[in-house]
Amino acid sequence: MRKQKVERKGEKSVRNRTEQIQQRIEQMPESQRKTYLKASQGKGSPRNAIKAFCSECVGYSREEVTLCTDVGCPLYLFRPFKNGSQNQ
Ligand code: SF4
Repeated sequence: MRKQKVERKGEKSVRNRTEQIQQRIEQMPESQRKTYLKASQGKGSPRNAIKAFCSECVGYSREEVTLCTDVGCPLYLFRPFKNGSQNQ
């Protein structure tokens, strides 16, 4: 009985995660989806996850990531596009 409950809870958690990922994908520009999907599936590098997170943080604007002034953010020194590069 308890095992069934745990399994159902796990299934629900996976479903919620899948739904959340799908919702985010639908809300972001197509150009950002590949990086986000890689990161959310644990593929690619931690750099992908940072790039996806920073992009989402500033409303998917590379320029805004470059101009980020939140020096207290733990990702600040690791954020992409610091030098204005398109591929960082
Ligand atoms: S470094 Fe800047 S853009 Fe990246 S997550 Fe932190 S506050 Fe957002």
